[in-house]
Amino acid sequence: MDRENLFERENFKALIKDDKIGRIEDRMKIIDAFLSTEEHVTLGEMLQILKEKGLNYEPEFVRECMNRWVELGFAQKKVFEGQPPRYEHRHLGKHHDHLICTKCGRIIEFSNKDMEQLQLRIASQHGFHMLQHKMEIYGICDQCMAKREPVLPLAMVKTGEKVAVKSIMGGKSMRIRLKEMGIKPGTNLEVINNDGPGRIIIGIGATRYALGRGISQKIMVSLIN
Ligand SMILES: [Zn+2]
Ligand SMILES: [Zn+2]
Ligand SMILES: [Zn+2]
Repeated sequence: MDRENLFERENFKALIKDDKIGRIEDRMKIIDAFLSTEEHVTLGEMLQILKEKGLNYEPEFVRECMNRWVELGFAQKKVFEGQPPRYEHRHLGKHHDHLICTKCGRIIEFSNKDMEQLQLRIASQHGFHMLQHKMEIYGICDQCMAKREPVLPLAMVKTGEKVAVKSIMGGKSMRIRLKEMGIKPGTNLEVINNDGPGRIIIGIGATRYALGRGISQKIMVSLIN
């Protein structure tokens, strides 16, 4: 256990001595297990960590312990969208924010001085005295992005291939024009002819359309097997 965690452990022990609650030794074992991980853990994950150490405590006891830990300011309970509550260390004087992957649930920590300053400035511009905040950025992590199907411009699709439209990079008028042809994110289409340097012939349902090279560079698609 590093010095910071060790210090907090002893600090906690001193505080709960006055609580006059029983099972101090068991509580300290739970705290040790919590301090042994740097992850954001759910109650279920805490029970699992304890189990791996050969400790089988009732979930209610562990929950009560964790909540006391939060009350005393040694841990923070966080609820990220779409996830069960999680506990994480709270080291005084240190602050960080989170990136949350909505695909795999991965949580990445970051801290950025400029962002912190900006938030204070925004608050004060509104005559608002900021006490705390949470900055959570939801999206897709690099690992999940790497596993995603590759997206390419329609202009690069070979004759005879079937693709799904993922996005349109052009401006509003182009999007409207394409939408009139039925080309929008989610549309499946077939490349009828992309052999020459001229226009690309595509089929949507039973209808064929001719698209210029420029436009077809801006329609991002993924291949359908
Ligand atoms: Zn922050
Ligand atoms: Zn992910
Ligand atoms: Zn965190």
